[in-house]
Amino acid sequence: MESAKAAKKKKSPAKSESRTALVRRARRINRELAEVYPYAHPELDFDNPFQLLVATVLSAQTTDLRVNQTTPALFAAYPTPEDMAAADPEKLEQLIRPTGFFRAKAKSLIGLSTALRDRFDGEVPGRLADLVTLPGVGRKTANVVLGNAFGVPGITVDTHFGRLVRRWKWTEAEDAEKVEAEVCSLFPKSEWTMLSHRVIFHGRRVCHSRRPACGACPIAPLCPSYGEGETDPEKAKKLLKYEMGGRPGQRLKPPPDYPGLPARPLGAE
Ligand code: SF4
Repeated sequence: MESAKAAKKKKSPAKSESRTALVRRARRINRELAEVYPYAHPELDFDNPFQLLVATVLSAQTTDLRVNQTTPALFAAYPTPEDMAAADPEKLEQLIRPTGFFRAKAKSLIGLSTALRDRFDGEVPGRLADLVTLPGVGRKTANVVLGNAFGVPGITVDTHFGRLVRRWKWTEAEDAEKVEAEVCSLFPKSEWTMLSHRVIFHGRRVCHSRRPACGACPIAPLCPSYGEGETDPEKAKKLLKYEMGGRPGQRLKPPPDYPGLPARPLGAE
């Protein structure tokens, strides 16, 4: 791994980078990220596809941490689609209130649970075409569920993913579906799901939206946007988050190989 200083001296990838060079650089970034985050994983707590679907719907416009702090009580009250479909809307709204937009989200959760109960025998379907017919479920949510509950390779274009791949000049597209298609074309299918986790991990810990920690970034030598953020190594180190900054992560129940601390329950932060 090269230092950030070495990266500064190196020429940024040229504007006219060939397709072959772009594919090589993109795959190198993926390999470096795999070394930095061997434990990358979805940052929502879930035990089954239904829980992941619900948690992903709740994660719109809020952090995974807030969702993880909210779902234990929610899943205790409504463990199955049948239970959630029959929920009293006001009670459900109160349970998911900490995630914001709770009225619209409650409507989606009751709607999707009803659809699961009535159209899919109470089971979450494992096909994109079926998932996107559920209320409140778009392509992004469907891909999260497919990739992490069904092992179907998929790329999740959230705000972090879009920002980072544009900084890396893998694509110039702003539209999530275009970003997805262009990034998919750079990698074999087998890499798609883990690539998504690694990129999102990096976006949350190092390559922040406002002040990316360039001076502490392990992939700086491969990044054409090096210098967009803090380049002083000491100052950059202070910008690192979660386990990279020695702090708790987002999951209350992280996987066993996660090197950071578990998140604290609601009210105990
Ligand atoms: S932190 Fe800086 S060097 Fe690292 S990926 Fe982001 S923009 Fe590039």
